[in-house]
Order: sequence, then C-alpha cells, then structure tokens
Amino acid sequence: MTEVDPRRLIPRTDQLLAHDEVQAARQRLGDNAVRQMVREVQERARLGELPPHEVEPVVLAAVSARRTTSLRPVLNATGVVVHTNLGRAPLSDAAVEALVAAAGYVDVELDLATGTRSKRGVAARAAVLAACPAAEDALVVNNGAAALVLATTAYAAGREVVVSRGELIEIGAGFRLPDLIASTGARLREVGATNRTHVRDYADALGPDTGCILKVHPSNFRVEGFTAEATIAQLRPLADEAQVPLIADLGSGLLAPDPLLPDEPDAASALAAGADLVIASGDKLLGGPQAGLAIGRADVVQQLAKHPLARAVRADKLALAALEATLTAGPPPVVRALHASSASLRERTARLASALDAPLVEHDGRVGGGGAPGVPLHGWAVRLPASLAAPLRLGDPAVVARTHDGACLVDLRCVPEADDERVLAAVRAALDV
Ligand SMILES: *Cc1c(COP(=O)(O)O)cnc(C)c1O
Repeated sequence: MTEVDPRRLIPRTDQLLAHDEVQAARQRLGDNAVRQMVREVQERARLGELPPHEVEPVVLAAVSARRTTSLRPVLNATGVVVHTNLGRAPLSDAAVEALVAAAGYVDVELDLATGTRSKRGVAARAAVLAACPAAEDALVVNNGAAALVLATTAYAAGREVVVSRGELIEIGAGFRLPDLIASTGARLREVGATNRTHVRDYADALGPDTGCILKVHPSNFRVEGFTAEATIAQLRPLADEAQVPLIADLGSGLLAPDPLLPDEPDAASALAAGADLVIASGDKLLGGPQAGLAIGRADVVQQLAKHPLARAVRADKLALAALEATLTAGPPPVVRALHASSASLRERTARLASALDAPLVEHDGRVGGGGAPGVPLHGWAVRLPASLAAPLRLGDPAVVARTHDGACLVDLRCVPEADDERVLAAVRAALDV
C-alpha cells in the first residue's frame, strides 16, 4: 500500500479563503493579514505540527479571534489613575457611545435645519462653558501642548513669553515646555530663580517685547522648603499695565476645585483670580479624550481660534463627541477611581485576596499623569509574588499590576468593579503558567 503524503491533505489557500467566515475576516482585517494567517497555519501543518484536518478549524478560530487593532485593552491594577503609558483617561460609557455615534458621517459642521455650514465643535464648546461658567469662551484643540503652542504663537511669536524659572518643566518622555514654546518662534524670558520668583521679577522683565505672561503649573513635581511664587492675582495688575494676556497652563484639567486635591489648580479659580486664558488637557483629571482646552476671555480665545495654526491643531470629531459626552454625563471613570472610598476598595480587594489566599495590604494609589505628585490615595492591594507581573501582563485580559518592594501588587482602584472576576481569573491563569 502506498502511503498518501499527509501534506497533500492540507486544504488549499483558495479553498480556505473562499470560506464565508474567512471572506468576512478579509473585509474586517484586510486581505494581507488574513492570507498571512492562512499561510502560517498551513505551514504548521506542513511541518507536521498540526494534522491536516485541523487546518480549517484553526484558521477559522484564528481569524475570528484576531482584533482589528493591535492595541490591547488592559486592566489597570496599578492604582495609578491617569496612567500615561496606559492611555491616560479611560472613557466613560457615555463618551464611548458618543465616539461610536460620531464615527460615520455626522453634522459636525452642518446645520441640519437650514442645510448650511455650521461652526465646528459647537456642542463641545457649549459643554465646556456649562462645566466652567467662569469662562466666556472656549476652544478645543488636539491636546494641551497644542493649546500652549497655539497661544504662544498667537501672542508671542517673535516676541517674549515671560515665565518663571521654577515653571520650566519637562512634561514627560523628554518633552520640555521651554523647547515647545521656543519652537513657536517665541523667545522665553525666564524670570526669578528655580525655587523663588517674585512679582517684581516679572515686573522687571515686562517691556515692549512682551507677548504674554505665562504661569505653568509644575504638575509633576513639588518644590519644598524656601520657595516663593507670584500668584495669578498678583500678576493680574502687571498684565493690565503691559496690556498682554496672562495665560495659565494648568495641565490637569480640573475645571472646578476638588477637595481631595487641595493643591491642584482649577480653571474656575484661575479665571476668578484673573487669568485671561487657561490651558488644560482633556484626558487627565477631566477624564475625557485626548484634547486641549483653551478657555477664558472671549477676545483672547477668538485670537487663538482665528490664527492659521488653529487649523493644524484642531480636535477631531471623535474627540469633540467624546468630550461633550464626558462633560454632560455622570462622573467619568477617572473621577470615580479618584474618589473611590477606601472602605469599598477594601471590601473588593479582601474578596480577591481571600479567593487567592494571598495577603491583603494597604496600598496608596496615585493621581498620575503628572498630577498632584505628593497626594497618596489611600487604598488596598493583594500582594502576590513579583514573578506574576509578567504572566499577568501577557495574559488575556492583560492585567498591569504594580511591581514594588519585591512584590506584584494588584490594586483594584482603577479596575471597574464589574471586572473584579476577570482579575481573579487572570491571576489564577497566571499562577498556572
Ligand atoms: C500635561 C501637561 C501639558 C501637556 O498636555 P497634553 O494634553 O499632554 O499635550 C502641558 N502643561 C502641563 C502643565 C501639563 O501638566
């Protein structure tokens, strides 16, 4: 009897590609990606790793499991609320719904009643103004850095931005505000010393070349000890005298004071104190999509809006939709995680700890994202061996815990309560690896 070469039984590429589910996957994932997956499975069969009759089911399973983005959703078990490496703020359900609604054709620049062109971002602007009534006008741009670039370009290109030496910060990944500002063609006029800057330092620097006065909230570090800074209220008269705008880059995106973060500046207070323009991020403490807010005096906001650069930094329709929803719906995940009670965190974490027979330990969460650096958020964690961190990250779902003090600490603060069971299952799976 002659033996049939089992490789001849491997389904052919065209047969596999013609399968209904594979056809659908070609639409969803792209032809190249699907062909590549088919080839890989056939190759395993050729090498004898897979019996030929399993090629088809393995291909079907592979194409249906493959996601359309290589970005992988992560359960954030670090206790860091605005986690820069995990995409900062997770969107609220309302914001996700808005994002999906805005994905197709939308009336972002059309008045459906009259059929004529309308202003872009009207609804997002209205939502910002409703959330921060101290502002006369608001412009939403791509991110906080873009708002700062736009403001310094519009007011100080070829002129000077007067700013304290104590506020020339690096905001992360090597990006420094002074470099960003200098890239706009504005000259930095640094005043004061790293730890102390006085009102007179600003006063001495103001002159015909001044384009604006800039206050930056050094959000990711604290200067302690012998320090002094000029407040917005103290700088207000100087800005009036020099007839230049007083711009406050707050970073965090708090629109109103939060008693939990007493040292974190907010837009309402900064405007009340006399800032002409406040700049903030959409995806830090505001808890929304990546966006930059420029809010404050109407004429100053309009000056930014009409600058040609505004077009290059405009917010996309998805961000506008998500921002509007974030501001109008209930508290987004960032705010809920920030304010989660220690008692409820303890209860959830204790449940996880006992299911795993692992110790429950006190663990402080952090605001993160360069916000409120000194503020611990009291909470809890399950203490696991440090060796579990990697399998947890690589598991499904991916769980990113905090590696600290020779242990892998699982903190549920930023995990939606509905996902507690998934964390438990993920840890069990990691223990089995
Ligand atoms: C985060 C931050 C920025 C940059 O905002 P992005 O939205 O990340 O572009 C600028 N200034 C301050 C003070 C910040 O904290």
